[in-house]
Amino acid sequence: MLLDFLFPRRCLGCGQWGKYFCQNCLKKIKPTEKQICPVCEKPAISGKTHARCQRKCSLDGLTSIFLYENAIKEAITKLKYKFVTDLGKELINLAASRLPTQIHNAPILIPVPLHPRRQRWRGFNQAELLGRMLGEKLDWQVQADILLRHRHTKPQTELKGKERKENIKGAFRIKKNSKFVIPNSRFIIFDDVWTTGSTLRECGSVLRRAKAKQVWGLTLAR
Ligand SMILES: [Zn+2]
Ligand SMILES: [Zn+2]
Repeated sequence: MLLDFLFPRRCLGCGQWGKYFCQNCLKKIKPTEKQICPVCEKPAISGKTHARCQRKCSLDGLTSIFLYENAIKEAITKLKYKFVTDLGKELINLAASRLPTQIHNAPILIPVPLHPRRQRWRGFNQAELLGRMLGEKLDWQVQADILLRHRHTKPQTELKGKERKENIKGAFRIKKNSKFVIPNSRFIIFDDVWTTGSTLRECGSVLRRAKAKQVWGLTLAR
């Protein structure tokens, strides 16, 4: 996509021309200090779901790479509305280099799907594009054809925690014609940002009900 003329290459942190992340702002980009349990959102070692929080269909853990602030927040917000491939690549290179090692063993990445109507309207799904870039970078398999968002939901950003959970309930299912064998597979469900986690938890529960062996959440930021 040639959108550079609409979206000049300036630092997303300070506005300096030349790069999306200048050396100075790069130093200010902070990794998440503590990973959290995806169920109760309290600190958890390596993001592994606490034993006390684990249910039959809950996520097994969660990894978020950056804090959702400054240049990272700018980058993610920009990509949501206009996908600039160069920026996506820079962000993913940065993310891959900061990825905690514990999730390195060859999972299958599933990007959180958009409803087909929304995707047509927007023209792309940023979680899928970023997920594919990350998969390519880390040599992970990417499967965007397993989960379907079959119910049109209100944008989560317009809702509060509890409403988000209600809004997203039952929004996903396994694609009927998906030939992928889910039982015993290990997945990473991927999104750009963890806000309340309702979306990732819901996707995780659909996969777990389909007998996935493990489902881990991964987001660029939190
Ligand atoms: Zn800068
Ligand atoms: Zn917990």
